[in-house]
Amino acid sequence: MNFENFDYTNSELIDKHLINAYNRKVVFSHGEGMELFDIEGNAFLDMGAGIAVSALGYNNEKFKNKLKEQLDKLIHVSNLYYTPALIKASYNVAEKTGLSKVFFTNSGAEANEGAIKLARKYKWLQNKESKGEVIAMEHSFHGRTMGALSVTGTEHYRTPFEPLIGGVKFCEYNNLDSVKAAVTEDTAAIILETLQGEGGIHPATEEFIKGIRALCDEKDIVMILDEVQCGMGRTGKYYAYEHYGIKPDIVTTAKALGCGVPVGAFVANEKLAAAMVPGDHGTTYGGNPFACAAINAVYEIFEEDKLIDNVNEVSSYLFEKLNLLKDKYEVIKDVRGKGLMVGIEFDCPAAKVVGACQEKGLLLISAGSSIVRVVPPLIVTKNDIDKFINILTDVLNEI
Ligand SMILES: *Cc1c(COP(=O)(O)O)cnc(C)c1O
Repeated sequence: MNFENFDYTNSELIDKHLINAYNRKVVFSHGEGMELFDIEGNAFLDMGAGIAVSALGYNNEKFKNKLKEQLDKLIHVSNLYYTPALIKASYNVAEKTGLSKVFFTNSGAEANEGAIKLARKYKWLQNKESKGEVIAMEHSFHGRTMGALSVTGTEHYRTPFEPLIGGVKFCEYNNLDSVKAAVTEDTAAIILETLQGEGGIHPATEEFIKGIRALCDEKDIVMILDEVQCGMGRTGKYYAYEHYGIKPDIVTTAKALGCGVPVGAFVANEKLAAAMVPGDHGTTYGGNPFACAAINAVYEIFEEDKLIDNVNEVSSYLFEKLNLLKDKYEVIKDVRGKGLMVGIEFDCPAAKVVGACQEKGLLLISAGSSIVRVVPPLIVTKNDIDKFINILTDVLNEI
């Protein structure tokens, strides 16, 4: 097949060999800073960052150079060996999470798989008869692999793929009593997002997170926080649990951790991590030197460019502007979130708003049927926010 004269505008041709798992419309060729460009050269302001991934924006010089340095040295060795990049990444992740032992994966779903396995192993060592039950939340999202899907609280994602892993109970998010009522002798773990993403941008209340921490301490249950989306500075701290002054037993992190290089990790405290021994878990790619160089580069650039300070500064401005829109347009029912993880709830289908914005060169993502998610690259400026608000205002005037 010769691609020299391939017609990338012909939808039949471009979909010919792709499984129809997504509704795609645009073909992007390159990016620069906050913008993506389609193959015809049209620019799009990206307020979705590849689903909260591309924190450094596109074509970031520093990031590219650090990746190139690693490409010239080593892309892959197996996990049967150490590399300097791996060792350095483990120090970086431990420091930023405040937890002590790291296992690198290739995605967020895999990080959650590993976290659930580690929690079950910990329980199994205490009681070989334990049923290893897991408590998860309604409207949660933990990924698409079988284990991660089993704790994902949206029924239509799960039903066609049953039977999934057993022993999972769903409770109401931000309702501590509903969690307490579900705990039994067999509860191995409670898994939740510190700030629910796909479920519609719902931050945990302080009472809920601290209540779960206390419950897990009291009954020796493993507390797993999924910060795949809300971690890595997005809420204005490296990890969102820092806002509550607590630490989970295991945190899962991915998305912006590699800023586009596919990486993830689950990170545990000493007590939990000690449950795992060689042979219990593994991965071919996870933590390979290229992936770890990306993680190290991301952390270095976050520090050098003070990206988390930028999140806090731009976030206040964004909330201020969105709240003004909310006061003016009845179709906006709510504006909520933390840092640069913001949900706008509409009185109309989110897809309608997202589609109309895309027509005008603005990329947004929905989260549930009526919520539009704003999760821009963390390099976003107030000037970009003005551009975003202008386009959104045009769209609101039309609908
Ligand atoms: C995206 C996401 C995942 C899944 O990550 P993948 O890399 O797509 O497997 C898990 N949990 C949360 C909270 C997410 O937002």
